[in-house]
Amino acid sequence: MTKKILKFGGTSVGSIERILHVANLIKKEHEAGNQIIAVVSAMAGKTNELLKLSKDVSNDFNKRELDVLLSSGEQVTCSLLAGALIKLNLKARSWLNWQIPILTEGDHSNARIINVNVSKVNDFLKEGVAVIPGFQGVSADGNITTIGRGGSDATAVAFAKLFNADKCEIYTDVDGVYSTDPNKIPVAKKIEKISYDEMLELATLGAKVMQSSAVQTAMMYDIPLEVKSTFTDRTGTKIFSQQSIDYTKSVTGVAYSKDDAKITIIGVEDKPGVAANIFEPLNKAQINVDMVIQNISSDQKTTDITFTIKRDDFSKTKKILENNNSIIYKDITYNDRVSKVSIVGAGMVSTPGVTYRMFRGLADERINILAISTSEIKLSVIIEEENTLNAVKKLHTIFDLD
Ligand code: ASP
Ligand code: MG
Repeated sequence: MTKKILKFGGTSVGSIERILHVANLIKKEHEAGNQIIAVVSAMAGKTNELLKLSKDVSNDFNKRELDVLLSSGEQVTCSLLAGALIKLNLKARSWLNWQIPILTEGDHSNARIINVNVSKVNDFLKEGVAVIPGFQGVSADGNITTIGRGGSDATAVAFAKLFNADKCEIYTDVDGVYSTDPNKIPVAKKIEKISYDEMLELATLGAKVMQSSAVQTAMMYDIPLEVKSTFTDRTGTKIFSQQSIDYTKSVTGVAYSKDDAKITIIGVEDKPGVAANIFEPLNKAQINVDMVIQNISSDQKTTDITFTIKRDDFSKTKKILENNNSIIYKDITYNDRVSKVSIVGAGMVSTPGVTYRMFRGLADERINILAISTSEIKLSVIIEEENTLNAVKKLHTIFDLD
């Protein structure tokens, strides 16, 4: 008997009609002899709606109460889906976080699942379908927690691990992971198989199919995943460890995000401790610095330091820099209209010339590169936001992905 975790994202349970469709899909899986744990997200848009309600009360809404509020979205879909399964004459029931319990540790809205009591649910699986809310848990002291936006993926992966499932399938509104955003670049192709590392880079760099921390957990415990569509029967994208993939291409996908900002501090002193003085208060304020570039100083006395951050942190960062008395500089320039375009591929390691081809391609499109960062399997550049789609299109073509 195969034990399956089936996770349904917000669009898959976004209306009653869709919930009924999902119930039928689960019924087929169950009748094929599989044991099923269904993990559900809130209806599409619901969590944002709830978040907005909290902001209408206070911009600094109490964190404990926020988790009580946000977790309610998953409670709704959990119950509706279990009810729909019962209507189809299946034995089914929902379980809320504290009924299992799904134990978490860490801060409100950013907790981590540390344990799940599997016994009751496992017993139930012998007869029926268990429907579980994603995204929520309970702390050791009995408070409701949530595990970060997009966290239902992480719930599914944690359940796959703790229930020793044979399969973990992530159902969504696209039929897999694409070589780039198929809504914007129609020549994008579905990727059949991808390694955890590549998927992790793509998810972190802007592909929105899966939550990156869920991919990270899957990689850590070697849990194979499949991303597939709720609405078609097509096979999806399989995500597993790198050894089992043959690389015929150097680049697997092109990702982009438009949520970056770039800051350049001009004419800071070129001596030990200056960079530390710049980044210390940013670190204290928990601002994540992504790329950093320091120019070689022409006069040996001063230099320019450029770095990028998330656009959401832009005004906070600006304020901190302007109030930082421990640094002396000539000027600061800001640009919050930049984007990050990245090529990702495990095949890059064994292919020479990838960097050059990327830069040549961008140059041919007359796109100026503002910052660069690399890792073993990715190359990212910061460019002006208006050039984003042009850059993605060009890179998709020159790396044979069209
Ligand atoms: N409903 C939560 C969110 O929107 C969790 C999820 O969808 O995975 O972030
Ligand atoms: Mg989601």
